[in-house]
Amino acid sequence: MPASTAAYAVESPVARTRRARKIYRALVDRYPYAHAELDFETPLQLLLATVLSAQTTDVMVNKVTPTLFARWPTAEALASADRTEMEEVLKPTGFFRAKTNSVITLSQALVERYGGEVPGRLKDLVTLPGVGRKTANVVLGNAFGVPGITVDTHFGRLARRFGWTEETDPVKVEHEIGAMFPRKDWVMLSHVLIFHGRRTCHARKPACGACPVARWCPSYGEGETDPVKAAKLLKYELAPGAEWPDPPPGPLPGEVREPRSSSETSA
Ligand code: SF4
Repeated sequence: MPASTAAYAVESPVARTRRARKIYRALVDRYPYAHAELDFETPLQLLLATVLSAQTTDVMVNKVTPTLFARWPTAEALASADRTEMEEVLKPTGFFRAKTNSVITLSQALVERYGGEVPGRLKDLVTLPGVGRKTANVVLGNAFGVPGITVDTHFGRLARRFGWTEETDPVKVEHEIGAMFPRKDWVMLSHVLIFHGRRTCHARKPACGACPVARWCPSYGEGETDPVKAAKLLKYELAPGAEWPDPPPGPLPGEVREPRSSSETSA
């Protein structure tokens, strides 16, 4: 039986919530700058960027969306875009034919049903083609300021490793974890868990020895526990400088970071 399952079985809900909040605070300390890693300026841009992020990295999506939104700046323009031309733009993100289809179909639905605007309610968002609860919560939390928990693959994996839940269904995970935290923390909670999953608590090789929440994690030891070896497993997905606070925190033991470029440091 995994240690997280054993912990879940014996821990009272009150103790679990208390421990969960300690983990949350430690993750906020580690990633105070955690944010949606997709670049966007409008709800429409975030909605489409989130759809495009399937099966690729946010970094890759951020490379293509400036061209996409400059060429077709509105839902109306996207809805009537030349398919071949858009496929060329989306090619680097993979599955570009299906993604072109998703962008055009979704934009057409926005034009036909919402006058080209992205609706700000969960119940409306999830009726749009290709928009599930996860995407809707990303858009609501980050573009509309509506509290929501984004249960993606990282969030679900970490919530189970932390022994916060035994559920695997994203909606059940969302409700169980949501009950443990005040609504005002939901968006940041989503950001820091996703940041931690991408950088430290990886699916296959969690860097337990470099983990700021190891003392509260029943799954400590699932990954590398030697601090120096663990630090080498840390991954930073965004370009160096793009995700650090200013000034950046000192590197962890053994962590190698590339220097920031002059354009980043002179801003
Ligand atoms: S890296 Fe290890 S100690 Fe940290 S949260 Fe993941 S499993 Fe737990």
